[in-house]
Amino acid sequence: MTLTRGEIVEGLINILGKDKVITDEQVLKESSIDRFRKYEDICGIYTQPIPAAVVYVESAQEVSDVLKFANDNLINIVPRTGHSATEGGLETVVENSVVVDGSRMNKILNIDTYNMQATCQCGVPLQVLDDMLREKGYTTGHSPQSKPLAQMGGLVATRSIGQFSTLYGGIEDLVVGLEAVFPNGNITRIKNVPRRAAGPDIRHVIIGNEGALCYITEVTVKIFKYRPESNIFLGYTLDSMKTGFEILREVMIEGYRPSVARLYDEEDGAYQFSHFASGKCVLIFMAEGPKDIAESTARAIDKIVSKYNECTKVDSKLIEKWFENLNWDTKKIAEERLEIAQTQNIGFTTEVSGNWSIIYDIYSNCCRRIREEIPDITMIGGHSSHSYINGTNVYFTYYYNIVNCRPEEEITKYHYPINKIIVEETLKAGGSMVHHHGVGKHRTQWIKEEYGSSYYILETLKKAFDPNNIMNKGTIFPIEE
Ligand SMILES: Cc1cc2nc3c(=O)[nH]c(=O)nc-3n(C[C@H](O)[C@H](O)[C@H](O)COP(=O)(O)OP(=O)(O)OC[C@H]3O[C@@H](n4cnc5c(N)ncnc54)[C@H](O)[C@@H]3O)c2cc1C
Repeated sequence: MTLTRGEIVEGLINILGKDKVITDEQVLKESSIDRFRKYEDICGIYTQPIPAAVVYVESAQEVSDVLKFANDNLINIVPRTGHSATEGGLETVVENSVVVDGSRMNKILNIDTYNMQATCQCGVPLQVLDDMLREKGYTTGHSPQSKPLAQMGGLVATRSIGQFSTLYGGIEDLVVGLEAVFPNGNITRIKNVPRRAAGPDIRHVIIGNEGALCYITEVTVKIFKYRPESNIFLGYTLDSMKTGFEILREVMIEGYRPSVARLYDEEDGAYQFSHFASGKCVLIFMAEGPKDIAESTARAIDKIVSKYNECTKVDSKLIEKWFENLNWDTKKIAEERLEIAQTQNIGFTTEVSGNWSIIYDIYSNCCRRIREEIPDITMIGGHSSHSYINGTNVYFTYYYNIVNCRPEEEITKYHYPINKIIVEETLKAGGSMVHHHGVGKHRTQWIKEEYGSSYYILETLKKAFDPNNIMNKGTIFPIEE
């Protein structure tokens, strides 16, 4: 029998106590969405079902008790930590969902500089962990632009990636071991070893699950020596994205590992680097690590770029300065809200990936179609920010005016159609429709196409670990009618 809203709240209070169960209406409204619906949030008009409660868990055992209660009573659970999701992963799409917030699980449990790993609870903000490590001469190497906002559980749950990924990798390369709780209440720990060949790597059932399979309670990540004094910044302007992709490819396939390798098109470049790059594309690199390696890497990259006549070197201080202001804290989020409210001009992003042979076509076809099909777009541009030996990503940025637009129309008139063009063109070319923000709830309609015949494996995970479908309904897996 389905529990009423009141019975759900009462059951949660019995498990956690009154203080940890929040039913304040404004909190519930704000907890029904994430940044995918930032315009709804700015307008204070919430179109998603409001959750029954937000609960603050403080231990793996509490998570286990809450999940078991939800599993027994078929209550939809939405795991949450930093609340910086951008793809609807935090939307409470069915009535009487419960948002399980792990941000009070914020203890750094162990910093082990001999074995070069740090263990912390899911609610530790990455900024706090990395600041503490840097004071001791170490770093996580993980630096997404949401570093001041995001927390370890969410970062692992979304397969996040940071700005220095070309050297350190994405979170999947950094996670050593984890603890997670499954819907039946099972608390499971994957041990910390450098590598093993004892069957499939089960960490990957948990990393990237977006709260749709289990709740991550603890994470162990690798740490690295922090040597900012060796950092070398390089920047160039150039005429075309095609040349830019060729240079990125050459740097990667020749075996160089700058920590940062980024390529901006004219439009995105104008947004970011108006002071030196008007009408030009921009290439950026950063080399780091032990001094000798950083210097050799920077020298080799400079040599590769100098073969291309259309590239002009810019003062490295400009690039260094630009880096200082890249991350998003709560102040920047508040400024953005104000600007959107004043200008009625709003921006979003969609990030995809593809092999070297298809990435330029993905980039140019998406930009062309968006310009043709969304005539009143005020900006469409893109950049590549994470490169690999076999390909790279494109992060599309687009802005449009929402004058006289109801909040839900902003989604249907602009956000959905633009997302659709980018996903369609990427899948058609053979790329991946999601590079690092997660599938959330708004790219699930293409998940079967994304996976092809391997969807069998993904779907079987859901059936095995969450047979009652209580974990973050509509996330990764579409809601079947
Ligand atoms: C301004 C801005 C810049 C960004 N830059 C980057 C970037 O550079 N790189 C990048 O990868 N991402 C970026 N993001 C996206 C976002 O910050 C990441 O997805 C981040 O990993 C989310 O972490 P969080 O703690 O905020 O998670 P939340 O927003 O709380 O949750 C994100 C998802 O993970 C699930 N989840 C959260 N906690 C848990 C848990 N303990 N167990 C299981 N599931 C859980 C949620 O249900 C949801 O589906 C950016 C976002 C913003 C707003």
